[in-house]
Amino acid sequence: MTHATRSGSDICRDYQVDPEQGLSKSQVSQQRADAGTNELAAVPPPPLWRKIIRQLTDITSIILLIATGIAAYLAITGDSSWLKAFVIGAIIVLNVTITLFQEHHAEKALAALQDLHVPTVTVIRDGTKTTLPAPELVPGDIVLLTAGNSIPADGRLLSAHNLTVDEAILTGESEAISKQTDTLDAEPDSIGDSLNLVFSGTAVTQGNGSFVVTATGMTTELGKIAGLLNQTQKQKTLLQQRLDQLALRLTTVALIAGVLIFILDFFLYQGNLADSLLIGVSLAVAAVPETLPVIVTLALTHGVSKMAKRRAIIRRMTAVETIGNVNVIASDKTGTLTQNKMTITHFWQPEQPIQKIDALSELSSAQQQAFTYMGLATNAEINEDGEAHGDATELAIIHLLEKYDLQRSDLEQDYPRLAENPFDSTKKTMATLHETPDGHYVVIVKGALDRIQLAQRPEKTSAIHDEFAASALRILGIAYREFTTKPELDWEQIEQDLALVGLIGLIDPPRPEVPAAIAKAHAAGIKPVMITGDHLATAKAIASDIGILRSGDQAISGVELRQLSDHDLKTNIADYSVFARVSPEDKLRIISAWQANGATIAMTGDGVNDAPALKAADVGIAMGITGTDVSKNAADMILTDDNFATILDAVEEGRTVYHNILKAIEFLVGVNFAQILLMLFSVSFGWGAILIAEQLLLINVLADGLPGFYIGHEPGDPDNMKHPPVSKNRSLFADGLGWRLALRAFVFTILVGGVYYLGRFVIADGSRLQGMTMAFLVLAIGSVIDVYAIKSHQMLQWRTLKHNRPLNISVAISITLVLLITLIPFLQQGFGLVNLTATAWWITIPAIFGSLICLEITKYFRLRREQSTPQAAAEYDLD
Ligand code: ATP
Repeated sequence: MTHATRSGSDICRDYQVDPEQGLSKSQVSQQRADAGTNELAAVPPPPLWRKIIRQLTDITSIILLIATGIAAYLAITGDSSWLKAFVIGAIIVLNVTITLFQEHHAEKALAALQDLHVPTVTVIRDGTKTTLPAPELVPGDIVLLTAGNSIPADGRLLSAHNLTVDEAILTGESEAISKQTDTLDAEPDSIGDSLNLVFSGTAVTQGNGSFVVTATGMTTELGKIAGLLNQTQKQKTLLQQRLDQLALRLTTVALIAGVLIFILDFFLYQGNLADSLLIGVSLAVAAVPETLPVIVTLALTHGVSKMAKRRAIIRRMTAVETIGNVNVIASDKTGTLTQNKMTITHFWQPEQPIQKIDALSELSSAQQQAFTYMGLATNAEINEDGEAHGDATELAIIHLLEKYDLQRSDLEQDYPRLAENPFDSTKKTMATLHETPDGHYVVIVKGALDRIQLAQRPEKTSAIHDEFAASALRILGIAYREFTTKPELDWEQIEQDLALVGLIGLIDPPRPEVPAAIAKAHAAGIKPVMITGDHLATAKAIASDIGILRSGDQAISGVELRQLSDHDLKTNIADYSVFARVSPEDKLRIISAWQANGATIAMTGDGVNDAPALKAADVGIAMGITGTDVSKNAADMILTDDNFATILDAVEEGRTVYHNILKAIEFLVGVNFAQILLMLFSVSFGWGAILIAEQLLLINVLADGLPGFYIGHEPGDPDNMKHPPVSKNRSLFADGLGWRLALRAFVFTILVGGVYYLGRFVIADGSRLQGMTMAFLVLAIGSVIDVYAIKSHQMLQWRTLKHNRPLNISVAISITLVLLITLIPFLQQGFGLVNLTATAWWITIPAIFGSLICLEITKYFRLRREQSTPQAAAEYDLD
C-alpha cells in the first residue's frame, strides 16, 4: 500500500511527527543519518582521458598530428632529423595541456556558481515555522507550500487550499493538477493520478497547503530520472555562434593558404619536399584560432564571477553577453525599484475624513471593525523569534495591528477562518470566510479597489483613491459581506455585493540607489521601463519621482494595452515608460513588441505567472529574496538583492566581457592574418619561407595563447556605460576591428620582412639563419606585447599597464620562453635559430615595438576624432 491510499495522519504516525509541531531536533538528526541530504547526485565530470581524446580530435590537433606524422616519415626516410618530429609532438602536448588547464579553470568557476543559488523551504520544526535550505529537508518534515514554491521533496498532502501543481517536469502534462488531501480508494496508476501526493521538482501554481515529506534526494521520483535531467544542452551565445562562423572561415582560409604556400615553396622556390610540406601544414595550424573558444568561455566565466560579486547570479552563460547589449530593461516596481518596505500611512472610511495613521491613537468602533477585518483576511505573521513570514503588504497590516495591540491569532479565535481564496496577482484580491462570534458568517475581501465587487461605491471613494495614488501610495480596499447561514463555497458568488469598510494607503519608498541607476541606464542608451501590478496613478507618481517617466514619455494601463492591436503596440512601444495593472500575458506582448523592433529586452519577474515572460525575454531576471522558486528556475539571472541598480552593474560587466572577447579576437586573429600574409609575401618574393614550421607553431601556441587567456580579466573601460548598446546584427568587424586587423597584418609583414632582409642579405651575406632568428623574435615578442595596445581603448598608460596581473605574468612567461629558446644552444638548434650579432640585436629590438607603436598612433587619432565629434548623448535608438 502506498502513501496515496493511506491517510495523512497515518503517514505522520509512521514518522512519529505531529503535523502541528513538526519534527524535533533529535528526530531530524536521526532521519538525516538514515536518509542523507536532500540532494540529487551530480553527474561525475568526464574522465581526463576522454577530455584528452576530445582535444586530440579537434581540427588543430589533427593537422598537428599529420604534421608530426610527416616529420616522422621524413626522419625514417632520412630526409630530415627526428628533432623536427619531436618538437612538433612537444607542441601538441603543450597545446593540449594549456587548453585542458584553462578548461578545468572554467569548469571549476561554473561549478562554484551552482552553489550560489540554493533554494529554501518553509517547514515546521519544534513547533515553529522556519525557513531552511532545501538540502536540509528530511523524511517526516512538515513542509508549507504557497504559490510559486518549487516542491522540494516527495510527500503526502496534509492540507490543500485551492492547491494546483504543475507536474510537467515528471509527467510532461502542461496543465496544472488540482490537488486534494482525501485518501484514494485504489492505488493511482501514475504520478498524474496521485492527487494527494506531491513530488519533488514540481511547482505550486496556485493556492497553498502542507505536506509530510516521504522521500528526499535520489529516492524521490525526480531522483529516479535525474540522470536524464542533467543532460541539459549548453547554449551558445550570439557572439560564440558568430565566432564559430568566423573560425570556420579562418580555417578555410588557413587551409587554402597552407596549400598555396606549399605549392609556391616547393614548385617555385624548389624547396625540399619535407620543409615545404611542413610549412604548408604549420601555416594552416598557425592560422586556425584554436584557443579562441576557450578564451571566450574563460572571459564569460570571469564575467559570471564578477557579476556574482556584484549580486547578479547568472544561471545561463549566454546571459553574460546578452545583458551587456540590452536596449530595454523592463522592471517590476515593488521591491526592485522600491524597497518593498511597506508602511500604512493613510486610512479612510466612508463618510469619514482621511486619517493619517501617525495621528490615530484611539480606534473608534468602526475603525476597530475595519482593522479586525483587515487582520482576518491576512496571512502574514511574525513568529516568536521575531521572524517575519508573508509579503510586505500584509506585514504592513500586521505591524499596524500590533500598534493597537491586535493579534491575528486572537482575532482568529473570535472569528475562526473556514476557508480562503488566496491572493494572486492576476485577480489582485484575497478573500476569507469566517464564523462570527454571534454565530453568523462573514466573507472578507481585501485587495485592489477596482477588483472588489461592491454593492455600491460610497461617495468620494474614487476621489480618495486618486488622492492616495497621486501621492505614490499603494491602495488596498477592505470589504465584507455577512451571511446568516453558512454560504456555499462558490467564491465568485460570495465575493459579490460587498460593503466597503475602508481604504488603506501604503508607502513603499524608492530604493536610494535607483534614481542614479536610472540615469546611468539613460546615459548608456538603455530605456528603463516600469511594469507594475499597482494602479496607474500610483505607478506614474513613483515613476516620475525616480526618473523613469520623463517628459514626453507615456504611461498605460493593462486595460488600455489590451485594446491596442499588436501592430499598434509595436509601432508605439518606445513611447511607453510605465505599464500599470498588467497581467503576465501583457508582459509577453510587451516583450514581443520590443523584439519585433529588433530590440534586446531584459525583464524582471517574481511571481509564478511570470515564468513565461522570463523565458521569452532576452534576459529574464528573477528576484533572489522575494522571487518564487518558479520564477528563479525560469530566469537567466537572479538578483540576490532584488535591486534594480544591480541590473545596471550586470550590464556594465556584460559590456566589459563583450569588449574583452572582441579584444581577444583582435589579439589572436591579427597574428594569424599576419603570419599568412608574411609567408605568402616571402615565398612569392623568392625568399622561401621566412619562418619554419616549428617557429610558426611555437608563436601560435605559446606567445599568443598564453596572454590571450587573460585578456578576459581586463577591467572595463571607463566609458563603457556612455555608449549605446551594440545591436544584435552588428558585425564583429564593425567599429574598425577589420581595419585594425589588416593594419597589424600589414605592419608585421613589413617589419618582419624588413628585419629578415637586413639579417639575411646585409648582415649575413645571404645565409638564412640570421634573418630567420631576427624575424622570429620580432614576430614572437612583437605580437605578444601588442596585447598592451589592444587591451584598452584608451592610450597606453603606466596605470593601465599594471592593472591586469595575470596578463603581465603570462606576457613575462611568454617572452622569457621565447628568449630561452633563442639563447640556449640546445633549444636554439631544435627551433632552427642561431646566435644574433650585436648589429642584429640593435635592429631587432626596436622592430619588436613597431606594431605596438603603430597601434597606439592609430588609437590616438581615433580618440581625437571621437572627441571632436562627441557621441550625441546616447539616447535610446534602435539600429
Ligand atoms: P509590482 O508588479 O510593482 O512588483 P506587485 O507584484 O506587488 O507589484 P501585485 O502583487 O500584482 O503587484 O499587486 C497589485 C495590487 O494587488 C496592489 O495594488 C494591491 O491593491 C493588491 N494587493 C497586493 N498584495 C495584496 C495582498 N496580499 N492581499 C490583497 N491584495 C493585495
